[in-house]
Amino acid sequence: MDFRSLFNALRLTRARTSRCADLANPELLQLRKENTELKSRIDYSQLGYVSVDSNAKVIATNPSAETLLGNTKNQLLNTTLYHYFSDSDLPHLQHVIQQATHGTATKLRTTAGGTDNCIPVMLYLCPVKPQSRKICQITLVDLSEHKAAEDCLRIARDGLHHIASHDALTRLPNRVGFNDRLETTLIKAKNLKQQVAVMILDLDQFKRINEPLGHQTGDQLLKAVANRLKNCVPFGSDMGRLWGDEFAITVENINTHEEIACVAKEIQEQLAKPYFLGDHELITGASIGVGIYPEHASTAEGLIRAAGNALNVAKSEGRNRTQFFKSGLDNPVHQRFKLESDLRRDIRDDCFELYFQPQYDLSKRGIVSYEALLRWNHPQRGLLSPDSFIDLVEETGLIEPLGTWVMEEACTRFAQLKANGNPVERISVNVSARQFAKGDLCVKIKDILQKTGTPPQALEIELTESALIEDLSDSLEVLKQLRDIGVDIAIDDFGTGYSSFSRLQRLPVTRVKIDKTFIQDIPHNPSNESIVRAIISVAHELQMEVVAEGVETHSQAKFLSTVGCDLLQGYYVGEPGPVSRIAAKAKLKTSHKAAALA
Ligand code: C2E
Ligand code: CA
Ligand code: CA
Repeated sequence: MDFRSLFNALRLTRARTSRCADLANPELLQLRKENTELKSRIDYSQLGYVSVDSNAKVIATNPSAETLLGNTKNQLLNTTLYHYFSDSDLPHLQHVIQQATHGTATKLRTTAGGTDNCIPVMLYLCPVKPQSRKICQITLVDLSEHKAAEDCLRIARDGLHHIASHDALTRLPNRVGFNDRLETTLIKAKNLKQQVAVMILDLDQFKRINEPLGHQTGDQLLKAVANRLKNCVPFGSDMGRLWGDEFAITVENINTHEEIACVAKEIQEQLAKPYFLGDHELITGASIGVGIYPEHASTAEGLIRAAGNALNVAKSEGRNRTQFFKSGLDNPVHQRFKLESDLRRDIRDDCFELYFQPQYDLSKRGIVSYEALLRWNHPQRGLLSPDSFIDLVEETGLIEPLGTWVMEEACTRFAQLKANGNPVERISVNVSARQFAKGDLCVKIKDILQKTGTPPQALEIELTESALIEDLSDSLEVLKQLRDIGVDIAIDDFGTGYSSFSRLQRLPVTRVKIDKTFIQDIPHNPSNESIVRAIISVAHELQMEVVAEGVETHSQAKFLSTVGCDLLQGYYVGEPGPVSRIAAKAKLKTSHKAAALA
């Protein structure tokens, strides 16, 4: 029963008691009993109860209310309730008491007990009938425990926010934290009509330090750089580490570009001084890109992007440079130009790596070969897959040096795997149309096989049908030469291009790789299942093996095994990964997957 019902019941029993004049009346005795019970329920309730009139004068209270309000009953009665609440809440309290005394039940979260003894409380206010009496009953609920729980949650949330917005290594704000602060700075700058500069700084050649000397040294260097930066940026500047070796600095209230150019120069001079870390004396420089608010962008994100574009230009034009954003830096033509210059720089700087994806041989019940897949460790954009750059590599002709590197690297890794006891038999390398059309592919491959001591049958080259289409007789000649050396040839992505079985018949190829689009919706696509069956049967007829690409599920693997496919490649067998992830022994041989396919 709530306060309102308790009080109403109490009032009713009192009224009925006064009407029963006869002391011996059993009804009177019963009413007195009920009255006492109700009173004791109010007195012992954990909830505070107070009745006030429309001027907030206290008419009745219970002990819990007295405790919450920090005064005795005698002190409270006939005083105004407003004395017992914090001043800042008085307008609200007045308003809700007025509402309740005029007939509308309402509630208010506030603080009771004045300055010394603040207790968070929830007040539930309800009118007393008849309304003409303009009395309101207030139930006070102590929220202290609730508040303590809320405080804990808030502290935990703040802690989590700090972790999410800061970099654990340098303790600087990370990209999220820096962005948040920049947004606040820009609101201020807008109001004060000021200019703000964002500088993005990237260490030159950090990879050259991080890789040979190890990540611990790299981390120490990043910390040392962060500390130096703290000492040389203008007072009041915000700083952050965006990722890797990329830092950002905000400089508020600037007037000219020259001011920022001076700050950038000072930073570059300080960072160029040697670092003494353990036994190492290290030297590094920094390239800086600058974006200015509101000249180059009006949002935090836009400004960071502008500074990032400027940084890319600074880096592509040499080391230790500062570049301000210029309009046009972010248009597609420029981006392409930029990608090309990055590509040239990163081919020179060894920023490419091969990932290897296993192929499972269903008859040998083990991993016997790997496809080499190119990855670009882009200094700003992270690890890139070939789909985002291979076209450009081809168009620019850079595929030739890069393709040669891929072939040589794949053969070198094959030799390493063998030396480590891995039962690998073959490595597949993708060869682009342009490399194939160049004509000297065979000579190059021979050289590489010789240089790396790789047996020819350990190399397979993967060509798409489109690489062969232009002039089939020339293509046939090159393919024959390759087969004469002993190198295997696979037709990649079979089924997506011209896919003619009659042409396949004329090609001296060893394997056909069924494109992943045919495998993806097996077992729900009967027509793809039929295509796969047909390719396998024709290929076997032509003495070719079949590799299924993009095998992701057990049911796909099971189906392919049932229809006589020779090799499986896809996430089900293993994702592409760096050579270090390949175990010395090809594990799938004994795994549950192999057992399931047996
Ligand atoms: P690709 O030769 O068809 O290579 C297979 C692609 O499928 C790889 O993408 C691989 O990561 C992805 N893949 C593997 N298993 C699965 C799977 O189970 N499901 C799905 N959905 N995808 C899977 P990646 O590495 O991004 O390579 C893309 C393409 O880039 C390759 O397609 C190949 O045409 C080309 N490429 C890769 N490395 C080289 C290279 O060194 N030289 C040349 N010229 N082209 C390359
Ligand atoms: Ca391929
Ligand atoms: Ca393929």
